[in-house]
Amino acid sequence: MDISQPILMDNRNLRKDIPDIDTFFSQIMQEMEQLPREGNLVVDPKLVTQVPCPVCGDPGGDQLFVRAGFLIVNCPVCSHVYVKNRMNEEYLQGLYAGSVSEQTYRRIRASEFHNRYWHVVYSKYLSYFASLGCANKNVLDVGCGAGNFLDTCRAVTDYTLHGLDFCEDSFDFIVSVTGRDNYYFRQAIEDVDFGDKRFGLITLWGVLEHLVSPGSVLEKCSRIVAEDGRVLVVVPNLFSRAFKILGISTPTIYPRAHLHYYTPASMERLCRDAGLVIDAFSQELPVIDLMYPYIHYDDALVADIVAKNECYYHAYLLRRA
Ligand SMILES: [Zn+2]
Repeated sequence: MDISQPILMDNRNLRKDIPDIDTFFSQIMQEMEQLPREGNLVVDPKLVTQVPCPVCGDPGGDQLFVRAGFLIVNCPVCSHVYVKNRMNEEYLQGLYAGSVSEQTYRRIRASEFHNRYWHVVYSKYLSYFASLGCANKNVLDVGCGAGNFLDTCRAVTDYTLHGLDFCEDSFDFIVSVTGRDNYYFRQAIEDVDFGDKRFGLITLWGVLEHLVSPGSVLEKCSRIVAEDGRVLVVVPNLFSRAFKILGISTPTIYPRAHLHYYTPASMERLCRDAGLVIDAFSQELPVIDLMYPYIHYDDALVADIVAKNECYYHAYLLRRA
């Protein structure tokens, strides 16, 4: 089965249809702009920590740009792009639990367009996974959030569903889908004792860019994925066509929470260190809504964006090395 072609859906009027999207981005910008800065950077050690490359450990990093007080660098060794003055974890956890912008984000996630688009994307990867013929029917959605992916799994598969998240708002819904025993609530995946349980499919939809320690999470995934199972990782691609056109205002540049921008090379290195290999690669969202005023949309444009790996999301299917 060919998964190289992205799902295409008319997203021209996205911001008109879902005004919360603009609200969300102005709220997160405001939250970041409030932080005290020196020399255009947030440096207060109570708020941020200066970190080495989270993939290879190199202490260097070439400046790409600063966004709202956060320095985005490119690792000269492994090519990983990351936030150098990373927001402290305790502070981040507090944000996810209670900020106004998080509530707005949840409303966006609940919107009709969002659900329809992601349901089709989820179904694409579930069909692909089914085509591999893996016997293990356990699915674990790491960072299951509001439960959208698990909800699609329930609708289109007979898999045994599991979730892991910290989100209190969606607790009752996730438990209604997975059962209480299969919801790993408020536990870091590294700390969960899965016993003999193995998973045919482990998914991390938009999760790895948020994690302080992506390596230890993937390493745990490599230990609990079935021999012939897959780990699906979907992450934003900084070097997208959207970034080429929109530059610094590309919405994925949200450095308070997006700590990483994986390149194909840095993802490969991260996987190798975790005992995984990239088995398949795909992309989603060649054109985001904000691009339309600056492009002539046609099939040739979409084909060119896909050929140059410039879609907004990169999807990696990993298996044990
Ligand atoms: Zn590096």
